Amino acid sequence: MKRRLMLFNVSVVVAGLAAAFLLALPLVRGLMYEEFTRRLDTSLALMTSSPQTIRENPQSFALLESQALQQSGQQMRVSIIGLDGNVLGDSTVDGSEEGENPFNSNHLDRPEIQQALKDGHGYHSRYSQSVGETFLYAATYIPGYFFVRAALPITELEDVMNRILLFLLASMVLGTAAACLIAMANSRRITRPLMALTSAAVKISGGDLGSRATVNGKHELGELARAFNQMADTTQKTIEELHRKHRQLQGVLQGMDDGVLAVSKGSLLLLNDRARELLEDPTLTEGSPLGGNLLQNRLLDLIRSAKRQGGPIRDTILCPGTPERILNVYAAPLNAGKSGEGTLAVISDVTEMRRLQQLRSEFVANVTHELKTPLTSIRGFIELLKSGDRDEETRRYFYDVLDIEAERLHHLIDDMLVLSQIENAKEDVSAVPCNVEQSLQSTIEQLRPMAEKSRVTLELSSEHDILVPCSPTRLQQMFRNLIENAIKYNKQNGRVTVTALRQRGMAVIRVADTGIGIPPEHLDRLFERFYRVDTSRSREIGGTGLGLSIVKHLAGLYNGDVSVESTPDIGSVFTVHLPLAANNKPAS
Ligand code: ADP
Repeated sequence: MKRRLMLFNVSVVVAGLAAAFLLALPLVRGLMYEEFTRRLDTSLALMTSSPQTIRENPQSFALLESQALQQSGQQMRVSIIGLDGNVLGDSTVDGSEEGENPFNSNHLDRPEIQQALKDGHGYHSRYSQSVGETFLYAATYIPGYFFVRAALPITELEDVMNRILLFLLASMVLGTAAACLIAMANSRRITRPLMALTSAAVKISGGDLGSRATVNGKHELGELARAFNQMADTTQKTIEELHRKHRQLQGVLQGMDDGVLAVSKGSLLLLNDRARELLEDPTLTEGSPLGGNLLQNRLLDLIRSAKRQGGPIRDTILCPGTPERILNVYAAPLNAGKSGEGTLAVISDVTEMRRLQQLRSEFVANVTHELKTPLTSIRGFIELLKSGDRDEETRRYFYDVLDIEAERLHHLIDDMLVLSQIENAKEDVSAVPCNVEQSLQSTIEQLRPMAEKSRVTLELSSEHDILVPCSPTRLQQMFRNLIENAIKYNKQNGRVTVTALRQRGMAVIRVADTGIGIPPEHLDRLFERFYRVDTSRSREIGGTGLGLSIVKHLAGLYNGDVSVESTPDIGSVFTVHLPLAANNKPAS
């Protein structure tokens, strides 16, 4: 660009100079010629003012006139030619010169003489054989006398022309050099801001949004640069705002617990990580097609339905597997103008919510049932008591049954309250280091009468000073529920062995019995609320169905756990792990 601009400028200047030179040359030549002619005319006019003097001695006149002119700086040849064409006098002939003698030739045929004869004045330029030089001749006809002719050597004119030519050439060279320098400076002045603008534009298009063109001055390019920079400022602000909004949108999308995706013509326009997770395909990305598995195909069907309907639809997708998942899908066509041919889908995993809903309704049904059973029994026996006279023994039996059912209700309500308290508590702030051995001993002592009644032997083997951070009452409740079950579901002359020891930073408490055991298919659900292996037996012996659930929740509250191993007819082992209290090292 810069070089082209410079070449153009220089070419224009050179062409201009050449044109001026070509025009000036003939003009100067013409002017010079005019000047020579004027000098010759002036001289001839002076010379012909006294024709008488010329006639007296033409040769001497020619010599004297020529010498006089030479003294005034003019190299002029003067000739006097008779009417017959013979040369009467000539300043170039003084007797000493060599060459052709003009006196020997007739000059009547000379063009300037011919013209003077016709017009009074004649001019011609030619090479003179007699002088050996080119002359510009001017002749004046003096009728009745002769022709007076003056001639100037044209070489002088050529000299002047050559000098002018040389001067013009030198001017042209200097002019070209000057034009080059000026063109260079000028093109730099013009191209520098353009280059600055180009460089800034290239940087901006390459992602450097902060790049600007530094062009000073109040000329058009300065204005252009300022307008460009303003445009870049606006573009930068707009792009930054778009980036900020895009980041916000990404943040919102990624932070969502629901899967969000937009689909157009079967391909993904956008999706968040949760959508990848729910659609079981971590490789899904913007632009990839949807439909890689059954779930994606089902979703695609819903998306197409929403598009066909032209409005939002909601549906549920069941994903078989363990555990089975339930997904709620909301699909709606994107309303983004003509180009908005995509469809938005929001997928929510409602498996846990549905499970909780089911648990809650099961719980309500269970509680109702558990409450109704003793209440029905109580109402029945009250009706019986009211319905007629009963002997003392029968009445006492009825009162005993009423007492048992009321006690069962009391237990049930107590257990439900405990369970709800534990469930609501995230941690037990009142926990203190509790001695496991002492807690077990005290529980066993409380349950010993019950064990003796059932002819079950209770044994305890515990490491000393095992301390766990716990509420003493809760710890005893946990042990009581397990040992009580071990007695309740034991056989006659059975045994319950309780052991406690420290293992890998945990207190490990095992309650083993030689009881009826639990069939393996029940083990998974054993710790659920109101779950019983044998409902009638549990009720018969006063069970609420909440004991193991309370143990599980308590162990969890103190960052421990409970597990069971059991063999039907052989017995069961319940194991509780609880973290040891800080600095509770094994006793030496
Ligand atoms: P319940 O009040 O019915 O004992 P639990 O939650 O304590 O309720 O126990 C749930 C069920 O687990 C019991 O009904 C019983 O069928 C079974 N079970 C609990 N402990 C034992 C055990 N040591 N041996 C055999 N079965 C047991």
